[in-house]
Amino acid sequence: MVIRSLIIVAALCMNTIVKAQHPPVFEGMETDTSYIVLGDLEMNLVKYGYGAVHPSFLTIHDDEDTGVKAAFKYIAENGGSIVDSQYGGTRNFKFIHQEVTYQTDPNSIYTKTGIRPGLEKFGRAHEDVITELENAGKIILNYYNPLKTGYIFTLHNNGDSGFGISSYLKGYDLETAADSLYINFQMDNDDMVLVTEPVLFSWLKKENVNVVLQAKNAPDDGSLSIYAMHHHIPYINVEVQHGHIDEHLRLIRLGTRALAELYPSLGIKKPAE
Ligand SMILES: [Zn+2]
Repeated sequence: MVIRSLIIVAALCMNTIVKAQHPPVFEGMETDTSYIVLGDLEMNLVKYGYGAVHPSFLTIHDDEDTGVKAAFKYIAENGGSIVDSQYGGTRNFKFIHQEVTYQTDPNSIYTKTGIRPGLEKFGRAHEDVITELENAGKIILNYYNPLKTGYIFTLHNNGDSGFGISSYLKGYDLETAADSLYINFQMDNDDMVLVTEPVLFSWLKKENVNVVLQAKNAPDDGSLSIYAMHHHIPYINVEVQHGHIDEHLRLIRLGTRALAELYPSLGIKKPAE
């Protein structure tokens, strides 16, 4: 019996920890939630907003929380909103459909071409599952609504070493995904910005920031940056190493300033200095 109650307590604590990973909602902040079901996986798309429509951020990996925390800081000071994908604190979507487990990276469901290879990377693919994932991608996009905002501004986090700005150098994994590359060797290799528009690239390069301009013929991996490029929607991904919250906030401010200056018709307010 003692053991049993210990397990229950542990389960309750885990629950608290999972909830606590998201920053506390501050006074005046509004939230709205949309739901997606993928097989047996339930996903919440939670929109946190305060004071202004712009900038509007999006996180699509639930194990990447530094970006959410940085966005909350930004929003508290300047106003704005973030759509946060919540599905259990993991990176991948993993779910059961007709007694078979499927798995994919949530950032591979935004183009029809990318969904099947995205599933096959982790196991099997199935027509029904491909359709379900395609619909999930559409729901996320509709909810974030880049047609209304006029841009897509995503926040990602990565681990120390492995993927970083140098992954786009000649001879490395992502060489073919980059049209242009600028590296500030004073910055951490894991802290960077990826954009789809040459004007955004030039602006950020002038600010001496690690930045990649995605190639027009970058491989279609179903990612949101490929979707944005195909639909001519200016796209910014600010990506830093887990825990680099100050750097994430600095780069979010720069990205917002870039959008405000380069696309004045969007009506984005520049961040406070
Ligand atoms: Zn990510």
